[in-house]
Amino acid sequence: MKEIVIASDNINKIKEYQHKLKSYKLIPYKELINIDPIPETGKTFRENAYLKAATLAKLLNKPCIGDDSGLVVEALPNLLGIHSKRFSKAETASSNNELLLEKLKNKKSRNAKFITVICLYIPGLEPFYYQGELIGEIVDKPRGKNGFGYDPLFYIKDKNKTLAELTLTEKNKISHRGKAIDKLKKDLDNENIDFF
Ligand code: IMP
Repeated sequence: MKEIVIASDNINKIKEYQHKLKSYKLIPYKELINIDPIPETGKTFRENAYLKAATLAKLLNKPCIGDDSGLVVEALPNLLGIHSKRFSKAETASSNNELLLEKLKNKKSRNAKFITVICLYIPGLEPFYYQGELIGEIVDKPRGKNGFGYDPLFYIKDKNKTLAELTLTEKNKISHRGKAIDKLKKDLDNENIDFF
């Protein structure tokens, strides 16, 4: 089976990738190398996805995917986005969600979107990028136990559910990351592109 290193510590993210990329063996980088998390010093999702994928691909000399994602909230411009992980001081999902609800208390707009950018870095090739987005709204209290991060607050009108009320399969069908992974898979499966 073709192996790809995934530059993430997030077990939930890795599950979403493995669920769609069943014919590839995804190896979490921590199984191969003991290094500190790669600093996300880029100014865009794309730069951060590149930093994660390129650093590990070069260190390990193996194909590597990096994922940088985040929540963009219309009423809070510049506050989340690429800073979504470090939004609250404690940097945990529950403290981030609490702070988000606090900051949105008197705001009219609850419009939001999730963005994922994937960078596929194959040593010796130019990087490839894939992006996906999901439009939604922020509810006023958490709902659901599935998923991770901001999922319990992210409401999808069509489904009348938050992302945390969807199964992994349901989330992956519609999500920002699911859409980006579909584009990545199309390239990985393309026999005319010699990735491996
Ligand atoms: P990163 O891409 O791992 O840097 O994640 C940035 C932040 O966005 C973290 O707080 C994640 O928990 C959150 N996040 C990323 N993707 C998702 C998602 O699919 N659902 C909910 N939160 C997410």
